[in-house]
Amino acid sequence: MSDFKMETKCIQSGYEPGNGEPRVLPIYQSTTFRYTSSEQMGRLFDLEESGYFYTRLQNPTNDAVAAKICDLEGGYAAMLTSSGQAANFYAIMNIVEAGDHIVCASALYGGTYNLYAHTIRKMGVEATFVDPDCSEEELNAAFRENTKAVFGETIANPALVVLDLEKFANAAHAHGVPFIVDNTFATPINCRPFEWGADIVTHSTTKYMDGHAACVGGAIVDSGNFDWEAHAEKFPGLTTPDETYHGIVYTKKFGKGAYITKATSQLMRDLGSIQSPQNAFLLNLGLETLHLRMPRHCENALAVATYLKNHEKVAWVSCPSMPGDKYYDLAQKYMPNGCCGVITFGLKGGRDAAVEMMDKLKMVAIVTHVADARSCVLHPASHTHRQMNEKELLEAGVQPDLIRFSVGIENVDDIIADVEQALR
Ligand SMILES: *Cc1c(COP(=O)(O)O)cnc(C)c1O
Repeated sequence: MSDFKMETKCIQSGYEPGNGEPRVLPIYQSTTFRYTSSEQMGRLFDLEESGYFYTRLQNPTNDAVAAKICDLEGGYAAMLTSSGQAANFYAIMNIVEAGDHIVCASALYGGTYNLYAHTIRKMGVEATFVDPDCSEEELNAAFRENTKAVFGETIANPALVVLDLEKFANAAHAHGVPFIVDNTFATPINCRPFEWGADIVTHSTTKYMDGHAACVGGAIVDSGNFDWEAHAEKFPGLTTPDETYHGIVYTKKFGKGAYITKATSQLMRDLGSIQSPQNAFLLNLGLETLHLRMPRHCENALAVATYLKNHEKVAWVSCPSMPGDKYYDLAQKYMPNGCCGVITFGLKGGRDAAVEMMDKLKMVAIVTHVADARSCVLHPASHTHRQMNEKELLEAGVQPDLIRFSVGIENVDDIIADVEQALR
């Protein structure tokens, strides 16, 4: 981790050119890398030596961008993935096997909910979903002998539940398992979960990190703090020999780097969800202005939320940075400088009025996206969460009338003017 402040990390971390090398991170658009000796190539394959040999495993452009994200989060090691979904899949699969179990906060992104509730279940891994606002006792009761991880989102998409990170971290550690946090909405500019006890952080870099809706991507960052050896019997994949690498033991050979090395050398090798170097380059451009964009997103979101709250046709508004919000206190504790640009609201006319209002918006677009420079809206019950029944929707914190409003960084007067004419 560098000693730079966050703004400097956004610009400088991850890539340091040598004398006469490109000032800007180059795109290594190459599947492979040349070696002069066959023996050295063999050592690379055995993880005896580090170096690039095939882009499915590692690529210098991707590694530089992963290193920047790692530095921003205050982590030890990181990797990029092709999408946020791949990041959340790998983050769990790296430490579970068929027959294992995980505990998740129930307020989750719809895709992550499907992944953990249904897809990994078919692979033999079961998830228990707990109310993020549950008591410590209720949380502890969700653990089983075969529980291997706890998962939650810093700010849930789209429920905007602010997770009590310390409560979840304490419960995870009391049961000898890591706490994994999807920090997509807050970004490390507004919250660094490792400072509150999280062990592993994931991102959909598709959102604020890229920030321009240009490329889908993901990242996994490991703090290096979880002691796998202290709970060796729970994590045999990390603490016993890997026969596919001549019996190396990840924790013994790579120490704090064990988790990311295993995710790269096993999961990426076998499943291959890599980010393209071209996308990593674009992601890096986004990261260079993340520290400028996040405060503006937060400021605009708070202004739009305050406007909506005072509008006669609006039934309710959710914005964790707004005084009076259910999660205001948690937001002040974990994200005192602002949460994110996403707010949600419902209209007195209910679900039908929501759809009608959205159709009347002119500048603010209806898109399946959040968290980029342009303002946009979505109706989760009809779009991202449409596979869920009413009960699942409510458990995920999604009221059927909920409009998700991703407030962009345009001039806030123009955003409010568009909302005003649509409401009228
Ligand atoms: C969008 C999102 C994901 C999925 O990311 P993709 O990049 O779309 O695969 C996961 N978690 C959260 C919180 C998200 O907002």
